[in-house]
Amino acid sequence: MARRKKIYEGKAKTMYEGPEPGTLVQYFKDDATAFNAEKKDVIEGKGVLNNRLSEFFMQGLTQIGVPNHFIKRLNMREQLIRAVEIIPLEVIVRNYAAGTLAKRLGLEEGTVLPRPIVEFSYKNDDLGDPLVTEEYIIAFGWASQQDLDDIIALALRVNDFLSGVMYGVGIKLVDFKIEVGRHYEGDFQRLIVADEISPDSCRLWDIETGQKLDKDVFRRDLGSLADAYTEVANRLGVLPQNSPQPGKPQLIN
Ligand code: 5GP
Repeated sequence: MARRKKIYEGKAKTMYEGPEPGTLVQYFKDDATAFNAEKKDVIEGKGVLNNRLSEFFMQGLTQIGVPNHFIKRLNMREQLIRAVEIIPLEVIVRNYAAGTLAKRLGLEEGTVLPRPIVEFSYKNDDLGDPLVTEEYIIAFGWASQQDLDDIIALALRVNDFLSGVMYGVGIKLVDFKIEVGRHYEGDFQRLIVADEISPDSCRLWDIETGQKLDKDVFRRDLGSLADAYTEVANRLGVLPQNSPQPGKPQLIN
């Protein structure tokens, strides 16, 4: 079998050349990292869960007309996506105070924000993804004012969609990060949601108990990350019935 060309390897995913021009294969790894890769582990089954969950969220976005990179899932760990030129920003939307916002402003985690807040970090591991203003983004040419207006509109649509979906299964969407890419169709360019949407890039709290069901379980040593992600997948009905539970021993008949 021909060896496929690796385009890029990140902390949680690897990209391979796709079968047709303009496509890529996105492979979800089991690697978990936090604090700019100072903390690392391999969580068996995480890649399988995130592949499924990202498929579920991206397909939902497609249904409501929010453009994104997802084409189709190929297998347990891989999906076919549209190749984009990633804008070097982490686009973060927050509904409740948590994480770096809570720390920066001395807010109690869980405080409801007066309105959803969209903020940007410059994607640069060496610098620890620093928070940047719109002025920086325009001055350094990472995106134009028009791009930023479009990115904020996209991010808020994703927020409304994800908040509703999660609320329906008893989970509060505290905050999340998306990445946006430029997709070229002939002479036209449009901004679409890229990367992934999964519990790796969201804060998800059980509405009743406040239990964390996202990567903070790993960041803060709060128990089994695979169990937390499986809980999210099960509530959303994303794991097919009787399919093997990733990371769990299976009885073979
Ligand atoms: P915070 O700025 O509070 O650390 O993160 C805000 C939200 O963005 C959280 O849901 C967090 O998971 C997500 N986030 C921020 N930076 C990253 C990152 O580098 N990778 C991933 N996967 N998510 C991030």
